[in-house]
Amino acid sequence: MSDAAPAPAKPAPAWGILPDEWKGILAERGLRPFRADQILQSLYRDYIGGWDEATTLPKDFRETLKKEFPLTPATIAATSESGDGTKKLLVAFEDGNAVETVLIQATGRFTQCISTQVGCAMGCVFCASGARGVVRSLKADEIVAQYLLARRFGDITNIVVMGMGEPFANYAETMRALRLINAGKGPNLGARHITISTCGVVPGIEKLADENIQFELSVSLHAPNDELRSRLMPVNRQWPLDELIPACAAYTKKTKRIITFEYTVIEGVNDSRACADELARLVRRVPMAKVNLIPLSPVSHRPDFRTPDERTMMMFLDVLMKAKVQTMLRRSRGKDANAACGQLRLRNLDGQERHN
Ligand code: SAH
Repeated sequence: MSDAAPAPAKPAPAWGILPDEWKGILAERGLRPFRADQILQSLYRDYIGGWDEATTLPKDFRETLKKEFPLTPATIAATSESGDGTKKLLVAFEDGNAVETVLIQATGRFTQCISTQVGCAMGCVFCASGARGVVRSLKADEIVAQYLLARRFGDITNIVVMGMGEPFANYAETMRALRLINAGKGPNLGARHITISTCGVVPGIEKLADENIQFELSVSLHAPNDELRSRLMPVNRQWPLDELIPACAAYTKKTKRIITFEYTVIEGVNDSRACADELARLVRRVPMAKVNLIPLSPVSHRPDFRTPDERTMMMFLDVLMKAKVQTMLRRSRGKDANAACGQLRLRNLDGQERHN
């Protein structure tokens, strides 16, 4: 074994390799396993932007690393900032595809909203990310690259997987990326500071319950009955509430962890008193459930969907609180930069619509 002349093997993106895997993968390729720690130091303590910066490693070995374990060539193709300080980055990959990631500053927190797919196949009618379907899923290293690029803007304290895409439609790569970001010898971001949000892909919820990891789980509900939910979220036709709710209950029972239900309130669509009552009854079927109420962010492809007024939001809050459901009223951030929930979308791919 040496630092040079490795057996030719398919390049493996460095940011897709879990810290624990490095020794094995180096050995497999006839390289010295003890280099693993130095590599991890360079990647996740020095946060190198290219192997040339890993000056603690011998030069010939750096050349080997470049060929065998390339750093994913992701770039920030555009940035925009909204009045509330929320930043949106357009992250472009080598094949020309790009995703958006959003940085949200709050007191004591710097949260990154991360994407897992280019576009989305789920087709929720109020969401811009899915308005043109899915192009492809991201690989773990591409998800990690979003995080590493975002770190240039500050110390990320929280990640929410609420950007473009459905994480459970890209389960393995999403989990690999999050495990890497969470790893002690990686960026070491606490599992409880990482929230995965799903539109209700039941097998994903079941799988996550079996993983021994403390990521937070959010489930996008948005409607309290099948009739309405199937109209708003096609995923409900595949996994209706009578499958989703028991899966959520089983998850909380098994993991002893809470589930947060997201409910985006849309004027005249799911904002009635009857909806609020029905929602309260529904979430009470899940032990340790919380509800986040979010006013709809306007999206250009559905001008008929409008943000509810303050009174409606307060009515929902009141009904849920009276039913003893723990509820939070969320404000959407980043609206004037099209960076709010459901507004992420690849404008730069569209001839008429230029990215701002
Ligand atoms: N696919 C995942 C994560 C991405 S969406 C999921 O569905 O949970 C993140 C959250 O934003 C989801 O709760 C989604 O329903 C919500 N959302 C989508 N469009 C929205 C809009 N126009 N206004 C407010 N929230 C929206």
